[in-house]
Amino acid sequence: MHYKISSRASCLSPSLTLAIDSKAKQMKAEGLDVVGFGAGEPDFDTPRHIKDAAIQAINEGFTKYTPSSGIPELRQAIANKFQRDNSLAYKPSQIIVSCGGKHSCYNVILATCEEGDEVIIPAPYWLSYPEMVKLANAKPVILQTSDQTEFKVSADQLRAAITPRTRLFILNSPSNPTGSLYTREEIKALGDVCVEKGVLIMSDEIYEKLVYDGAEHTSVAAFSQAHYDHTIVVHGMAKAYSMTGWRLGFLAAPDPIAKAIDAIQSHSTSNPTSFAQKGGVAALNGPQDHLPAWLAEYAKRRSYAHQRLNSIPGISCVNAKGAFYLFPNISKLGLTSTDFCARLLDQEKVAAVPGIAFGADDYLRISYATSMANIEKGLDRIDRFARGLA
Ligand SMILES: *Cc1c(COP(=O)(O)O)cnc(C)c1O
Repeated sequence: MHYKISSRASCLSPSLTLAIDSKAKQMKAEGLDVVGFGAGEPDFDTPRHIKDAAIQAINEGFTKYTPSSGIPELRQAIANKFQRDNSLAYKPSQIIVSCGGKHSCYNVILATCEEGDEVIIPAPYWLSYPEMVKLANAKPVILQTSDQTEFKVSADQLRAAITPRTRLFILNSPSNPTGSLYTREEIKALGDVCVEKGVLIMSDEIYEKLVYDGAEHTSVAAFSQAHYDHTIVVHGMAKAYSMTGWRLGFLAAPDPIAKAIDAIQSHSTSNPTSFAQKGGVAALNGPQDHLPAWLAEYAKRRSYAHQRLNSIPGISCVNAKGAFYLFPNISKLGLTSTDFCARLLDQEKVAAVPGIAFGADDYLRISYATSMANIEKGLDRIDRFARGLA
């Protein structure tokens, strides 16, 4: 039987991060001592009061459909969060709760882009962005950056890439996969270009809370009414509350865009899980006191891993200012990132994600959302592996 697969689906690249992850898990299941640096999720447990709120919701029978864009209580809690943390005023009607931040991103792209539209994506990028753009029949336009600029695009670089077909610019700060963080001035300059050229910004701020060394996250929507009018902020519960499996993300948008996304979601997924939303309310309205301890632990691991990576001949690594990733440059070692990671997994039982998955073949992504003991062991092995190549 020959099955015809739509061109929409057949143009997608399968996720390399998931492939590495499943190979590593299989090796672990076979009893091998694998160190996993592939994870894209926190290694901490969801805080107790958040779990309790969801459990209570189930016990009280809160297990039916909800309004498709989320329960009013959660949309209000999200509006309050934007006011409190970002000085951004959104009405609950401008907030859409979705089944994960990834789903929020996809909704934004589907609601704003179509055939012939161009979407500007700085590389290294989160690997789903270009695939989502292709699913909307639009065209990803990749802006290459390197460790020389801490993986950041300049306003001039952005301006030069804009054409009459440019619809959307995707900004992700702090970044997955590089951990880089744009300064307030840099964000404003990028926002100014988009405002001037009439380009929308999808600002993925899911790592907002995970910043180090006293650095600060800035939302591009907060600079002026014009910036606000050009921006859709994408966010979610996954990273700051360790709720990756709950599938709860959200976005804030100008009214007409929120309305369009509401319609899309009402005919596709409908509401995110009812009792997960109650957990989301508890997360946003409840105590935030888990964060300082998590941040201190991440910061400690980051410093150690950064210093160790730089001590390996042939590897150099800029320090990350946010998220929980480092993105070392391995180009001097003479292997493609795919070969490097495949051999590292085979020979040393260390799983890392090849940079090519994020549009940057000279690098690897190392997630430090794993224990210090794992990080020490994994880096000992990477050190030995790299010296063996030299
Ligand atoms: C983790 C992540 C998301 C959202 O993930 P969900 O699990 O779908 O909430 C969005 N953007 C980036 C860059 C991420 O790393």
